[in-house]
Amino acid sequence: MKRNNKIQKLSIIGGGPAGLASAYFAHKNGLKFELFEGNSEIGGNCKTVEHKNFKFDLGAHRFHDKNKYVTSIVRNLLNDDLKLVSTPSKIFYKGKMITFPIEFKNLLKKLDSKIILKILIENGINIFNQNKINSFNDLVIKRYGSTLSTLFINNYSKKIWGIDTTLLSPKISGGRLKNLNIISIINIFSNRKHFEGFFYYPKNGFGMIFDKIKEEIQNNNIFLNSNVTKIFHNDNKINAIEINDNKKIEVDQIINSLPINIIANILEPKIPSKILDIVNTLKFRNLRIVVIFLKMKNFSNYASIYFPDENVNFTRIYEPKQRSKFLAPNDKTCIVVEVPCNESDELYNSHSDIFKNEIINSLIKMKFIEKNKIIESLTYKIPNAYPILTNENVESMKIINDYFKKFENMKMIGRGAEFKYLHTHDIFAKAVNYINFLSQE
Ligand SMILES: Cc1cc2nc3c(=O)[nH]c(=O)nc-3n(C[C@H](O)[C@H](O)[C@H](O)COP(=O)(O)OP(=O)(O)OC[C@H]3O[C@@H](n4cnc5c(N)ncnc54)[C@H](O)[C@@H]3O)c2cc1C
Repeated sequence: MKRNNKIQKLSIIGGGPAGLASAYFAHKNGLKFELFEGNSEIGGNCKTVEHKNFKFDLGAHRFHDKNKYVTSIVRNLLNDDLKLVSTPSKIFYKGKMITFPIEFKNLLKKLDSKIILKILIENGINIFNQNKINSFNDLVIKRYGSTLSTLFINNYSKKIWGIDTTLLSPKISGGRLKNLNIISIINIFSNRKHFEGFFYYPKNGFGMIFDKIKEEIQNNNIFLNSNVTKIFHNDNKINAIEINDNKKIEVDQIINSLPINIIANILEPKIPSKILDIVNTLKFRNLRIVVIFLKMKNFSNYASIYFPDENVNFTRIYEPKQRSKFLAPNDKTCIVVEVPCNESDELYNSHSDIFKNEIINSLIKMKFIEKNKIIESLTYKIPNAYPILTNENVESMKIINDYFKKFENMKMIGRGAEFKYLHTHDIFAKAVNYINFLSQE
């Protein structure tokens, strides 16, 4: 596909990673653009919040070095402020800290010998397993065998997504299970370091990447508190958007990073009910977090701790200070506790004090914190955190994408817009490709 006319103006909807990466590359390529963000701040789910002398992200973020070109872009943006962090993560299992990702050498020390034998037999048989992978459950069983999957992956995944792993699409792994097969597990003689423990992270929090982008484009044409409330179309072309229920703005070319269910419901005239009904079946998992500020130098030595146990009401704890020492005062720390929820869940809708107490009481009971060490706590809701990729939803997205393709001047980029389990590096790669395409004359 080659463009044959130069665009007049690019309108970008949403100021999260997808919107800001698009704005950054448009700026670099000299394209005229404007960005509309509904919130009073940019960054979307990748924001870093500043509270008194602390900084924290809305959930455990790290920059994955999976795309060399994107890494070089982020490195150029942040220079020395992009640090290589070497802090391992752990899985909390029956009072023990298991190395994450799972290492066989570590399991030998932590698990009962009968369980170890079962794991070995299952994974030995798995080498010859040619079964078709139809679900996330099939995928993890093929990679780890059913015992390891049950112990550490399936319960955890069920807590994250809210449904059984047999119903989830294998695509939900987002490629993170690649390379973690029995060969790597059994590599007991290697001195392999915690490879998930090495990652890039900006000195002042993950949101620094996006604050820096805002600074680079000199804040030009970023309109905050600008909620896009309607998207007008005619003749297979988006021709205008409405901001905050009143202001209508004409558009030429659009990059849209809003969740697909929002986009579909604000199109005017309404899209066919057949398509809208399919879109409305797509569900996102929300996240509610508690940030607990503590009178102690460190909470742990780990970047993140994962909790697969179904009886524990949270999935992960991360300590910002373990990613960058600049995120908390020297003698204090804070932790961020993640609780995935459905929109209708009691825990998601409970009063913030009740929610905080519930999580804090669990942590005290598990002896992770002491009441007298707590300075204060805050809570945040993160809607549309994870698109729930069931096999059915993957099929629905094919129909939805086919329909949306007809709007030739609107490109959807982002986790919610594409309904894909994307990370920042994926989103940057998509934004740069599309802006390069738009820049062709
Ligand atoms: C707990 C957690 C941990 C994660 N860890 C990592 C990680 O380690 N590494 C990584 O790379 N990624 C990670 N991610 C994924 C990453 O956060 C997402 O990929 C990224 O935020 C998606 O960016 P986006 O721009 O598509 O969407 P969002 O971040 O959701 O941004 C969308 C923006 O659109 C705005 N908006 C919404 N509605 C409107 C409207 N009507 N009008 C105008 N603006 C609107 C929102 O306010 C928001 O700013 C994690 C996500 C979560 C939830």
